[in-house]
Amino acid sequence: MSRINAHYCDLPGSYLFAEIAHRVQEHAAANPHKRIIRLGIGDVTAPLPPAVISALHKAVAEQATPEGFRGYGPEQGYAFLREAIVTDVYQGMNIDPDAVFVGDGTKEDLGNFQELFDLGCRVAITDPVYPVYADSNVMAGRAGPPDALGRFAGILYLPCTAENGFLPDLPGERPDIIYLCYPNNPTGAVLTRGQLARWVAYAREHDCLIFFDAAYEAYITEADIPRSIYEIEGAADVAVEFRSYSKTAGFTGLRCGFVVIPPGVRGRGPGSEPIPLRDLWLRRQTTKYNGCPYIIQRAAEATHTAAGKRETRAIIAGYRENARRIRDGFQALGLTVSGGTNAPYIWVKLPSGMGSWDFFDLLLNRFGIVGTPGAGFGPSGEGHFRLTGFGTAADTGEAMERLRGFTL
Ligand SMILES: *Cc1c(COP(=O)(O)O)cnc(C)c1O
Repeated sequence: MSRINAHYCDLPGSYLFAEIAHRVQEHAAANPHKRIIRLGIGDVTAPLPPAVISALHKAVAEQATPEGFRGYGPEQGYAFLREAIVTDVYQGMNIDPDAVFVGDGTKEDLGNFQELFDLGCRVAITDPVYPVYADSNVMAGRAGPPDALGRFAGILYLPCTAENGFLPDLPGERPDIIYLCYPNNPTGAVLTRGQLARWVAYAREHDCLIFFDAAYEAYITEADIPRSIYEIEGAADVAVEFRSYSKTAGFTGLRCGFVVIPPGVRGRGPGSEPIPLRDLWLRRQTTKYNGCPYIIQRAAEATHTAAGKRETRAIIAGYRENARRIRDGFQALGLTVSGGTNAPYIWVKLPSGMGSWDFFDLLLNRFGIVGTPGAGFGPSGEGHFRLTGFGTAADTGEAMERLRGFTL
């Protein structure tokens, strides 16, 4: 037998959502007549907007003609999409289409991007957070083995707790790379322009890079919350931004996202010479990737049209309304709740002493409601529980009905 990459053995037992699926399946098998409502997994439920559907149909029909057929596309993405992105998303931010790399989704891009860096680079991760940042670094061998609490010595954790309003303090020691996700999954917390500017200033001063995951940008409602890190002056020298069409336009199944790497963002080469990350990522993509399908890129392009934007805004408004109902519903149970205003996520603080997997089992067994245990997002997530506005309005309403009057 061939020896495996032993760093895979350092990973937590299973990917969070696999463990949840397993418990739900067992419960469903034992209770075949109970209807389970899923307010847990970060997947969307609304069908794709009409503008996206018609772009898909049109692109499919093109494939049946000699003129319209497309084979391998450019690894960086078609110019029509990169230009639409720059015009629609980065107006006035001095971002060039050359800095934009279209991919199959942000999970892929975030998981892969770390391979541009030396295994000795220290990564800082807010805790709790989307598990991909930590796990992909663990797989690469950058994190080392976990301790008894599941913490990795090679990762610098930035705790986000009720005490700091779920916003991390600047690191006490210098990391090479800082992952930031705002609006945040799972806490729903956001950074104001001034707060994000402090992180950019820190990265510039300490010569670090920021990987900014803006997957939930479309949920922002307040004017003082930046949608892109490039709204902050100086960010184009230190920040890489990751964007996804998944939670904005329902592309969780279609798969499309993009990475922005401005030319000033650089790493240190073997002879200490600065090397633009953009060039390295292009080299990586041309070797390991053949591009997001043409049909899907046309669908993504449609989300940047007037009709596409109107339609996606309406869908997001529905998810936001669900989030508001969930927030109100859990507040009415006497629990402390945050998030849900500029994000689809509601972060519930559990009564002291209650474990997040205990609350998961309680909600599932008594009410047939599935949420996500906070512990699955990192050690500081224990004692909290995540709910999402991504269900249907009917399901969300029914779940809140089931919970009415419940006391812990
Ligand atoms: C859902 C999610 C993504 C990934 O989306 P893709 O479907 O892979 O594009 C990225 N980051 C965060 C924080 C997410 O919650």
